[in-house]
Amino acid sequence: MRYYDIHAHLADGRLTTRLAEVLAESRRHGVAGVLAAAARASEWDTIAALSRHEGVFGALGVHPFFPEQWDAGCAGRLRAAVRACPGIRAVGEIGLDFYDGRGSEARQREVFEEQLRLARELGLAVILHNRKAWPEFFETVRRLRLTPLRGVCHHFSATIEVARQALDCGLHLSFCGPVTYPHSRRLREAARYVPSDRLLTETDAPDLPPWGHRGELSLPWHVAEVLGTLAELRGTPEEELAAQVEANFREVTAAPEAGADSTWQIANSR
Ligand SMILES: [Zn+2]
Repeated sequence: MRYYDIHAHLADGRLTTRLAEVLAESRRHGVAGVLAAAARASEWDTIAALSRHEGVFGALGVHPFFPEQWDAGCAGRLRAAVRACPGIRAVGEIGLDFYDGRGSEARQREVFEEQLRLARELGLAVILHNRKAWPEFFETVRRLRLTPLRGVCHHFSATIEVARQALDCGLHLSFCGPVTYPHSRRLREAARYVPSDRLLTETDAPDLPPWGHRGELSLPWHVAEVLGTLAELRGTPEEELAAQVEANFREVTAAPEAGADSTWQIANSR
């Protein structure tokens, strides 16, 4: 069976010392595709280099925890990296996180909007992290006229109602380690609700290990446990779900189409 991890922080300092081993082990365990997501701009070079490996794609962006990392040169650097590295297939990890009220909400919104616009300009998918900010997220997407929006709500953990709205925007929803924990009732309910053609698997490595690896660093091949749990929850044979997840992964990480954003640009230049 082939497995796909749509969200792994391979440029995280806890993994960079052993990347060759992590990639080799992932392949050995049947992981056929990994999307390596950035949290900080300082990780972009590592991710660009990783995206040259077979089966590894990259997402460049700045996480809502680090809005100060987004400076005047970032948009230009991101465009240049996408031109130079065809394996860069998404802008991420980006989003809004108003959980701890650190007061950076206005700056988060600016940085997020700039990255959303850039993704649309480049025809790339977005890898989203939203927490305690779903109304603001949907408002932004509507205001910028971004639907249908190609991308993933990574580690989806909100309500069915939020899931419905995200699906209406055209997004995929992805699940990771926490869904394998027996008591994660709300997550499991959402994991049953998402239609199979919008469902994805991830690890968020090196964080959020699945139940079978609790207490360890999470690694891309642990995604097999996530797939197994989803198959069981949904009453779908694992092979069938794996094939669907493969198709979904390919759709989200597809190469950008030239000129794909021209209608959006025209609509938004008025
Ligand atoms: Zn992440």
